[in-house]
Amino acid sequence: MDVMIEVTLLGTGSPIPDPDRAGPATLVRAGAQTLLVDCGRGVLQRAAAIGVGANALTALLLTHLHSDHIADLGDVLITRWVSTFTPDQPALPIIGPPGTGEVVEATLRAFGFDIGYRIAHHADLTAAPPVTVHEQIDGVAWDRDGVRIRVAPTDHRPVTPTIAFRVEHAGASVVLAGDTVPCESLDALASGAGALVHTVVRKDLMQQAALQRIREICDYHSSVEEAAATAARAGVGILILTHYVPAIAPGQEEEWRALAATTFPRQIELGDDLHRVEIHPGVCVKPTG
Ligand SMILES: [Zn+2]
Ligand SMILES: [Zn+2]
Repeated sequence: MDVMIEVTLLGTGSPIPDPDRAGPATLVRAGAQTLLVDCGRGVLQRAAAIGVGANALTALLLTHLHSDHIADLGDVLITRWVSTFTPDQPALPIIGPPGTGEVVEATLRAFGFDIGYRIAHHADLTAAPPVTVHEQIDGVAWDRDGVRIRVAPTDHRPVTPTIAFRVEHAGASVVLAGDTVPCESLDALASGAGALVHTVVRKDLMQQAALQRIREICDYHSSVEEAAATAARAGVGILILTHYVPAIAPGQEEEWRALAATTFPRQIELGDDLHRVEIHPGVCVKPTG
């Protein structure tokens, strides 16, 4: 079988609840690894739709600690724990920015009664969900079974620190930018990658909002054109847009694609939850950095 990385947009929504879009979450399958990047609302429902259970995840990667990106962290931790049937359950690696450990610990504490009930009920559950948290903002975070993950800081201020991930496997690569305005460290991380998954906000629409709090969403996100320009500077082969603010209205996909195409001349992917993209080696236009 052809070697590749497979990206599935599990949730293409945003903080705004949407009947058709789950919260921000992206599944990356590379070699034997199944990596979940962010865990917004509904993530396990969407994962179930493609046959991936919480117990199949090999690591959880968090770009930042905004609520929309971690809304279902408790569900991921508890469901993985109760649906893993091997003795000596392996710890779930969680890679995120500083603060991740505190959030994971507080989440497990919030589910403390549940964890107690299940340990009391099931003979083979004897300890709380095992996790290993790696807090990191720069450098190689993971190198296992031919899959390497690098992280770099992004700019989502005043939310800080925030990170992007680069996943590499057998010559294929994908960068997951998370929420950010254009910045040099993301450009460097994405340089020569096969694909860039980038969250976007339609600033042309959101800047018209009557409420200041809604207009302020524009402050720390990339517009479609800005995300596309980042992809063009980095020389990636495929731009994958997600986290649509506002949600793409039915029939408007081509308008969004046209905006991205003003600054990125290559393959542009966007769509509904469960949209899947294959990333093969050699689709970038720059030598792999
Ligand atoms: Zn955010
Ligand atoms: Zn967000």
